[in-house]
Amino acid sequence: MTPKGAKAPLVIVISGPGGAGKGTIVSKLCEQDPTITVSRSWTTREPRTDDKKDSYFFVNDVEFNKHKDNGGFIEWNEFLGCMYGTPMPDSDDERDLILEIDVSGGRQICRKIPQAILVFIDVEDSELRRRLSGRGDEQSEIDKRLLEAGRERKEAKELNYRIVLNDDLSKATKEIYEIICRARLEGP
Ligand code: ADP
Ligand code: 5GP
Repeated sequence: MTPKGAKAPLVIVISGPGGAGKGTIVSKLCEQDPTITVSRSWTTREPRTDDKKDSYFFVNDVEFNKHKDNGGFIEWNEFLGCMYGTPMPDSDDERDLILEIDVSGGRQICRKIPQAILVFIDVEDSELRRRLSGRGDEQSEIDKRLLEAGRERKEAKELNYRIVLNDDLSKATKEIYEIICRARLEGP
């Protein structure tokens, strides 16, 4: 629990198309500032070769639904046929919390935590295609993810996400860190 008078930790939602660089940027932010942590989601999708061992809790449908029905997720969504959910945050953890989730999840967080900061990391489709194919995604999977990217960009604009272009990794990481530092000083 946050002590009386102390500032509540920030909640920062990071969304963006697959391959935009969310995971890479979030790792850098957590590395450079130990007062930032990232929530580990549950998913029913199969692990990919590029997944780090702590990317997700990989579970089956039964396990996911049981946790959902027990109120174990603050938000959850189906994405390209698989379930993804954010476990209820630990209220004793005073670190600022990043949720790396899709825009539908961001919408649910906005309703529950209106002061959450929303950041959408983006890159041009041609570069997305290059990065997804570089990590070994099948062509049909890339096409589905690009279609989803178009839908998410529209929804992110409606929700007033701050858009950060990740054409340069250091620049994009710095831009997001500045958003976090400003919110620490001035409030979200
Ligand atoms: P996401 O988490 O959004 O799916 P990743 O962080 O896994 O994306 O990044 C996808 C790929 O793009 C990785 O191989 C990563 O190293 C690479 N990448 C990330 N940012 C950049 C960048 N600015 N320029 C070039 N490659 C990048
Ligand atoms: P991926 O399969 O590339 O790891 O993730 C697919 C999409 O699901 C990405 O947009 C990612 O941000 C999103 N995602 C990951 N975890 C969660 C979660 O817990 N909730 C929601 N709503 N989306 C998630």
